[in-house]
Amino acid sequence: MIAVTTIYIAGSMNHPGTTLPANVRGDCGHGHRTVAAAARCAAADDRSCKIGHGPHAGSDRTVIAVEDGRKRPLNDRELLELDAVT
Ligand SMILES: [Zn+2]
Repeated sequence: MIAVTTIYIAGSMNHPGTTLPANVRGDCGHGHRTVAAAARCAAADDRSCKIGHGPHAGSDRTVIAVEDGRKRPLNDRELLELDAVT
């Protein structure tokens, strides 16, 4: 049996061929165990942007899965989890 470790981050997919997040805010640096926790992290970053820069500012972090160290977009099940908490 192969154990696959999946964590979730508030961030973005990388620029193709690089390890650099393709957003302005970058990745949160955490390894969240659930989609919901990463969504709360993204929401907190959005609030921080608004506190610092006003109501029209916001975070461009979204919830991304990291499977055995590789980023990937959320799958259908994970998107349903995200819909349930946002
Ligand atoms: Zn985080």
